[in-house]
Amino acid sequence: MVWSRAPMQGALAAMAGFLTSTCARSVERSPMPIADPTVVILGGGVAGVIAARTLYEQGITNFTIVEARGELGGRMQTQTIGAPGNEWVVERGPNWVQGTQTGDSPVNPIWTLVQKHGVKTQFNDWSNSVVTYDETGAVDYLDIFNDSDDQYDDLTVNAGARVQRQLVDLTARAGYSLIGAKPKTPADMACEYYQFDWEYAQTPEESSLIASSWGNNFTYDPDVGGFGDENEMSIDQRGFKYLIQAEAAEFLQPDQLMLNSTVMNITYSSDGVNVTLTDGSVLLADYVLCTFSLGVLQNDDVTFDPPLPDWKEEAIQSMTMATYTKIFLQFPEDFWFETQMGVYADTTRGYYPVWQNMNLTDFFPGSGVIFVTVTGDESVRIEALSDDEVQAEVMEVLQAMFPNVTIPDPTAFYFPRWHSDPLFRGSYSNWPSSFFNGHHQNLRATVEQRLWFAGEATSEKYFGFLHGAYFEGLYVATELAACIYAGGCAGMAHVPEVTNALPYTI
Ligand SMILES: Cc1cc2nc3c(=O)[nH]c(=O)nc-3n(C[C@H](O)[C@H](O)[C@H](O)COP(=O)(O)OP(=O)(O)OC[C@H]3O[C@@H](n4cnc5c(N)ncnc54)[C@H](O)[C@@H]3O)c2cc1C
Repeated sequence: MVWSRAPMQGALAAMAGFLTSTCARSVERSPMPIADPTVVILGGGVAGVIAARTLYEQGITNFTIVEARGELGGRMQTQTIGAPGNEWVVERGPNWVQGTQTGDSPVNPIWTLVQKHGVKTQFNDWSNSVVTYDETGAVDYLDIFNDSDDQYDDLTVNAGARVQRQLVDLTARAGYSLIGAKPKTPADMACEYYQFDWEYAQTPEESSLIASSWGNNFTYDPDVGGFGDENEMSIDQRGFKYLIQAEAAEFLQPDQLMLNSTVMNITYSSDGVNVTLTDGSVLLADYVLCTFSLGVLQNDDVTFDPPLPDWKEEAIQSMTMATYTKIFLQFPEDFWFETQMGVYADTTRGYYPVWQNMNLTDFFPGSGVIFVTVTGDESVRIEALSDDEVQAEVMEVLQAMFPNVTIPDPTAFYFPRWHSDPLFRGSYSNWPSSFFNGHHQNLRATVEQRLWFAGEATSEKYFGFLHGAYFEGLYVATELAACIYAGGCAGMAHVPEVTNALPYTI
């Protein structure tokens, strides 16, 4: 096999030897096994960095991380907000280590990195430090809130029983209805939202009963192998991303990292992979490990040549990329609740429902910062509005929550647009009830032996979470390293067609 290889230019010349442009000189590629195969890791988020660390630990150093943004971290991103002299670093993306460790339960590896790199976190009491509101102001419906908490527990138990009996998946909405949980009032809906949508970024109608339950249990329930039920919130002013950047600094060499490098096309065959960047340069690799988000893969932001096979495309299009949006406000004085959390029940389900108070001693004292979260269709809706329009809606809700207060203008207002961002196209994946085990296997499976995939969405147990991205980077890179040492392999297997156990009889 003969590959095109060209003189390297400018800053790129410092990069690894597989970096090329289109003025070609020919280089012979040795037949398998390849002596020192080149690996290109696409994406510098948690999955990409942990995959690189895994290769390094396995003695494979001929790799490069290619990342479009100017820093490592992926969805771990910060924003500085606030009036001059009272500025605070807030998290655009992930904020919590979800499930840390209880007793001798397994430890969440993100929690391990937090401790290793001294990232400042604070326990976030989502269950007991809560106050409730509706469109008339403060109204105590904590009894409904607590019932909703119990219903969610019942939902997951019910889902576990279905798994044991090998029953088909249902929507989480059907699961709720089957245990008699049928929210009717705005308060019912807001409390259900708090338990469900606020975690999965989609509605119970849009979510798998079984997968959402195991996603919960494998993270939060030590009795079934989960880490623990506590959430630690990063309040570190270096940003939550510090943990993965500090981890990368321990092993990654400058010539193993290409920042500000956006991939446009991936051309692959069983002989290798060409990765074309938007500046026209082409990287030649023996193996590519793609960690781009499910949203990027779904939206053709990167093209594949040949197009990905049908089994891969069906898997990609059958999982959902959900959106989760934190909207930050800063006020010159605080006028809101003294608990950590506030729930707002609107007649429209999911309309600015979950509020979090950062202006507390253990969080950002004196900051005047509060934020509200929307998800799913509401996130998509507000991304299409101007900042001023969204701010006006948020202020109207605050006025309903605090009818007797003259609310000052905010000194800061900010929210990120994850759904529209071509590097993410959403916040994290969610598993719909029409996504089957075969789809999951195919989402992760290798294409043509050379094109490998990892990321939070390929995690069966922990899809959506930072620790899902971590475990996938670790697992897939371990498999890839074994493949390299074996002098080549078929890669991770796929299912040619995802079929029913019993055919329809129509
Ligand atoms: C708003 C929000 C809140 C969240 N909250 C939590 C939380 O509290 N706790 C938790 O555990 N998880 C949370 N998550 C999920 C968590 O952030 C993700 O699961 C995790 O960061 C995914 O890591 P990854 O490496 O799989 O993907 P990514 O972080 O998306 O990494 C992929 C990388 O590929 C790059 N890329 C994409 N396209 C291209 C291209 N064409 N060329 C080059 N590079 C490209 C991207 O810039 C990115 O850096 C949240 C996510 C969001 C957005």
